[in-house]
Amino acid sequence: VCKVCRRAGTKLFLKGDKCFSQKCALVRKPYVPGPKAKRRTKNFSEYAKELKEKQKLRNWYNLEEKQFSNYVKKVLGARGKVADAAAFLIEILESRLDNVIFRLGFAPSRAAARQIISHRHILVNDKHVNISSYLVKKGDQIKIRPASVSKTIFKNLSQTIKNYKAPMWLELDKEKLEGKIVSVATMVEAAPPAEISSIFEFYSK
Ligand code: SF4
Repeated sequence: VCKVCRRAGTKLFLKGDKCFSQKCALVRKPYVPGPKAKRRTKNFSEYAKELKEKQKLRNWYNLEEKQFSNYVKKVLGARGKVADAAAFLIEILESRLDNVIFRLGFAPSRAAARQIISHRHILVNDKHVNISSYLVKKGDQIKIRPASVSKTIFKNLSQTIKNYKAPMWLELDKEKLEGKIVSVATMVEAAPPAEISSIFEFYSK
């Protein structure tokens, strides 16, 4: 997994706590993986640069190509109807349930969040939702199923969440381990690692 970050040349935070420590592979080996000869800086074509930006964002949100391209194509189709297409794309990606669970601090990575959701540990408005791609909306309440709180997977959560700061568009109750969507995600807070305009160019060809 760390090779994905090293290839992208940026931290994509795919491994939870390790990403914030000195054990992060990008800290220890800040160069692309593979033989030395291949590490020389190349003059990338425009296509290669756009592809790299696309891969960065796709991996950041831990999505398969098909899912990711569907989101981008939906946004490209809405261009002209939305004020800021890049912000609209981020708004959609951030509202996926797996991302929300990660952003609430309930899981150390989006991959872990996906596992938690598929194991039916999450309630949205008091109903089970086991679909990671579920898109939340303003007013939705997200919580860990009470019967799941004692499971090993959440063993240290009450402790680790104490120092966690959720983004402004989410309201987090650290005692009850509940969250609420209070607005839409902003580009500034999401801080995507890629140039969105290059991604639009990539899919426009
Ligand atoms: Fe990327 Fe995390 Fe691995 Fe560092 S530890 S290279 S941020 S996945």
